[in-house]
Amino acid sequence: MKRVTVLGATGSVGRNTLDVVENHRDRFEVVGLSAGRNVDLLQAQSERHPGAMIAVQDEEAHEALVKAAPEMNSRSIGSGDEALITLVDKTRPDLVVNCLVGFAGLRPTLHALSLGIGVAIANKESIVAGGELLMRTAKESGAPIIPIDSEHVAVDQCLRGCRREDIKMVYITASGGSLRDTPIEDLETVTREEVLAHPTWNMGDKITVDSATLLNKGLEVIEAHWLFDLPLDRIRVVIHPQSIIHSMVELQDNSILAQMGLPDMRLPILYALSRPDRIPTDLARSRISDFPDLSFREVDEARYPCLGLALRAAREGANRPTVLNSANEMAVGAYLAGRVSFVDIHRIIENSLDNVPSREIETFEDIVETDATTRAYTRKRFQI
Ligand code: MG
Repeated sequence: MKRVTVLGATGSVGRNTLDVVENHRDRFEVVGLSAGRNVDLLQAQSERHPGAMIAVQDEEAHEALVKAAPEMNSRSIGSGDEALITLVDKTRPDLVVNCLVGFAGLRPTLHALSLGIGVAIANKESIVAGGELLMRTAKESGAPIIPIDSEHVAVDQCLRGCRREDIKMVYITASGGSLRDTPIEDLETVTREEVLAHPTWNMGDKITVDSATLLNKGLEVIEAHWLFDLPLDRIRVVIHPQSIIHSMVELQDNSILAQMGLPDMRLPILYALSRPDRIPTDLARSRISDFPDLSFREVDEARYPCLGLALRAAREGANRPTVLNSANEMAVGAYLAGRVSFVDIHRIIENSLDNVPSREIETFEDIVETDATTRAYTRKRFQI
């Protein structure tokens, strides 16, 4: 029985994680749950997992919850960022599943790792912002960082049994997002609905926008660089519109290994929760003859300037990936709130990379400082 604490349980990956766990109750027990504002769903989830302690990030939402359901009070850790740390401390799970969105997920991940608790991580922004520190903390404590992102779960599986020195190239596949066939000149005027209509994956709003800009793939290249200790020039992005092959590894003898499956997040989550074991499951079985024709093409850099910006930040190192991520979080937040246009997203990121000062990252506080500086810069410069 693996005891798991799920941070961000009411988001898209969190809901899928609970679905996997509930399909395999003989193997997993949920001991902790956290939510942001969606306390109705959190309450429903806690009823299905009566042994779980809960934390709510938003203080007002927490008050509303304990008022509406006083019985939740005895299971509640409290609210705010600190409550996530306390939830990890109090539940001491075998595994933290971090499904939080954005930089806010970094601190609880670092905290769990420093206690020697493994973290299955869907929260790619925290790997991008704090990759070096995360990997160092994991190494010191011996706690594993396990990918949940479908591409990295694919690479993880392809690399099993491969010798490191045999890796020639890792190919991260990208669907191309919701705007992959929109004429470039129309990107200035795309609507929110068009951007949020992802062709193959059903995900949260922030990551769906990141998929449309392909910034998401840039974050995933940086994520792969840290998780698999690969030089950046051994990681390439390739467009694969069907999202059936989740990534590939090319070896010295030109053999290419690929991992395939339906685009259903429950599959990579199941692997992340059970690896190195394989659990028989009824989830999303693929009939190979039903797969669409599989195709691949190179990335059109003019269509996706955000990918180039992410690779630039990754190559420059130091605090650049943190600046990239924070500027993107601000830009996407402003976009979703209707305050900037779709093409402003890459302009805001590029301007921030050009203007927020570079500095080395040694500690968590350095990352927090760069995040705050970048947010303050974009707020002032772009009125967002
Ligand atoms: Mg992904």
